[in-house]
Amino acid sequence: MAIVETEALVLRTYNFGEADKIVVCLTRTAGLVRAVAKGCRKLKSRFGAALEPFTFAKITYYQKENQELVSLNHVEILKSHFDLSGQAETLTGLAYMGDLIIEFSPPYEPNERLFRMVKACLDAICESQSDLQLVLRYFEIWLLKLEGFLPDMRRCGECHRAFDECEGTFVNTDLVFRCGRCSQGFGSALSKKLQTQLRATQRLAPFVFARESRQLPESVHREMAELTHRLIGRVLERQPRLRSTFQ
Ligand SMILES: [Zn+2]
Repeated sequence: MAIVETEALVLRTYNFGEADKIVVCLTRTAGLVRAVAKGCRKLKSRFGAALEPFTFAKITYYQKENQELVSLNHVEILKSHFDLSGQAETLTGLAYMGDLIIEFSPPYEPNERLFRMVKACLDAICESQSDLQLVLRYFEIWLLKLEGFLPDMRRCGECHRAFDECEGTFVNTDLVFRCGRCSQGFGSALSKKLQTQLRATQRLAPFVFARESRQLPESVHREMAELTHRLIGRVLERQPRLRSTFQ
């Protein structure tokens, strides 16, 4: 039996048996982990309020060989994010992030870049809850990229020529990015502003990306949301259960 100590973000919990909960978390060193928190629904539980969704914590768990469900031993809150729970829209956004991570991440596959990206997005939302939707778009692009599902945005998927900044990019029903010549007029053209936004996700931290995107017209935000939902929907072969759309 191995004892593991790692930093974790609680994504979701659900009741298990009489007094326990299953806690699904994204950890820094072990990827997606499903843990039983024994007795955590009892009045005097040692876990207290540490298992609220999106709590950032240091956790210790026991793992038996060949068992997917591990046993949570200790949780030390590093940041509760309790301050985010007052806003229904923020909670919905966070639940959406959690669900997508659970859908996309294979269990027990360490992905530290994913952990750092999600943590940075969470920090950006804490910093400015009104940027929630902008940060969610950033999160979607990076989740797709880090799990290997983002089409190449820098070059044509057909002739492999690098796009230059002023030429059109087209996306067909197969969601491959193509140059004007290869697309032969099929598919939808991405606006210049959206292409700039997509490039910005690759070089900026989420907080900076959100701050610099605030002044863009609503149509660009909508176009980006439509694109990320098409990309995610294709991966899941259905639309995400919780849709985060613009009001
Ligand atoms: Zn081409």
